[in-house]
Amino acid sequence: ETWETDVLVIGGGGAGLSAAINAAQQGAEVILIEKGSVLGGNTLMAGAAYNAVDPEAQENLMILSRAQKDALDGYLALNPTDPKLKFDVYPEWEAVLTELKGEINAFYSRNAGKAAGVDMPGFDSVALHMWNMYTGGLRELTDGSWIAPNVVLARQLAANALDAFVWMGEAGLEASYGLDAQYGTTVGTGTVLGAMWPRTHTFMSGAQRIPQLEKVAIDNGVTVFTETSGIELLTDASGRVIGAKAENVVDGTQITINTSKGVVLATGGYCANPVMVKEYDKYWGEDLSDRTLSTNMGTNRGDGIVMAQTIGADVTGMEIAQMMPSSSPVKGTMTDGIWADAAEQIWIDSSGKRFVDEYAERDVLAKASLALENGIFYIIYAGRGNVGNPNELLQGTDYNERVAGMVEGGHIWYGKTLAELAEATKTPAAGVAPAFTEEQLRATIEQYNSYVAAQHDDDFDKAVIAGAIDLDYVDANDDVGITISPRKASLHHTMGGVVIDTDTRVLNGNGEVIPGLWAAGEVTGGIHGGNRLGGNAITDIFVFGRIAGLNAAAGN
Ligand code: ADP
Repeated sequence: ETWETDVLVIGGGGAGLSAAINAAQQGAEVILIEKGSVLGGNTLMAGAAYNAVDPEAQENLMILSRAQKDALDGYLALNPTDPKLKFDVYPEWEAVLTELKGEINAFYSRNAGKAAGVDMPGFDSVALHMWNMYTGGLRELTDGSWIAPNVVLARQLAANALDAFVWMGEAGLEASYGLDAQYGTTVGTGTVLGAMWPRTHTFMSGAQRIPQLEKVAIDNGVTVFTETSGIELLTDASGRVIGAKAENVVDGTQITINTSKGVVLATGGYCANPVMVKEYDKYWGEDLSDRTLSTNMGTNRGDGIVMAQTIGADVTGMEIAQMMPSSSPVKGTMTDGIWADAAEQIWIDSSGKRFVDEYAERDVLAKASLALENGIFYIIYAGRGNVGNPNELLQGTDYNERVAGMVEGGHIWYGKTLAELAEATKTPAAGVAPAFTEEQLRATIEQYNSYVAAQHDDDFDKAVIAGAIDLDYVDANDDVGITISPRKASLHHTMGGVVIDTDTRVLNGNGEVIPGLWAAGEVTGGIHGGNRLGGNAITDIFVFGRIAGLNAAAGN
């Protein structure tokens, strides 16, 4: 079969759908092909967090806390010659720090005489968002080299985040201003208020978002084919991309799709292809096996990266794949367990002892857990037994049913009392039976409670915390229980991928544009360096997907 169109989008996750919508809005004829039987990819499973600096809203909604003021003063005090800043390797980031310092000084002058935590308004800026990306994404690799976000792409993300958010609203998607959450550093579970700045907007959960995007795409005239896999990019004699070969994955029909403008690659990452992750890995080393599980859709195998490489595209940042620590040891997915904020859970090893600071970044948590026997660790979560932490999981009250379902499914252990819980752990869940004793669990929890009381975690030498578990309350109240969920890190997000410029044009190994080819979303590399911040993934796919659609429709 042969199809004709202006723009072909390969991949039907958030990046592909937003590229298709924008290209169609510009008047292009658009075909989108998706390998899976449903649209959505990882975007379907992703949360609703969307980071966007929004000075007007933030200035009105926020009072600058003392901790934030300390952080701002800390940035002002940074000395560019400090080797930790790595400006010897990344001199282009020094200008961002200078810009940030200028903004902070101007902010202080504007608010002279006001007190932090009382009447000083909120502060945020594109430079600060970028700076968080830099310090959060800077990582050393096993060969001693370094990896960091590409400063130009980081600016493109941070500077266009709010516009893209507003655009989605105008395109018909329900997005809401909820500057309540503070993502922005990666934290244990991704659900934690772990970062310093409330710049996270709420933009529907994945399950709500994808059907809406699909509807908006179809309303704008995009033709969508699922179960259709892109296989090969077609080029003309000049090297311009002029279409692609595809295959119907159900009946094997071969399809040639000719494009008058070109192709947008939006095939996502390659976490469902651990062999590929391992091939490039310079971070996890032996902790990564070619059977490591993934939180991803099975179709996210890096097809787009390979297709682009075949016609000369360059790749970057492939050395690190992000692992999600709190995944199912059986499936690799972020399901079949009960966990919540870092401030509401205790992580233990098979001897019942804490082994990591629960607030650490995802890669730190994953590394610490993978060093344990079989890489398995256990999350203690007490729900309403948590002191001073009315958890949102428990509101709406299907919590007890969820717990019951997970116990029945053999995924977790539950006890109305600590003794009952310990007894339960003798029976395997998720294939393991640590047989904790009540004494072990009690000792760990009581020690943790003492740290909370003293506001200092002696095990990991840091200030704390919330999250004491009131064992007397748990033991005394039949309707209040406590759970343990076995967990194991699994592959979650690949930061590496094809090299793009700020117009999402794909570049070859000489840094030259491959005409007729754009890429957006997880298939691209360089934006996040070695570690993507929580709340930046959805921003990434909509900012760059939208740009890709615009440029593809124009054909340049
Ligand atoms: P992003 O967040 O970058 O949009 P997603 O993971 O959400 O990435 O979406 C990528 C989509 O691309 C997935 O739905 C995946 O099934 C699809 N995909 C992967 N490889 C191909 C391919 N060869 N042809 C068509 N679609 C593909």
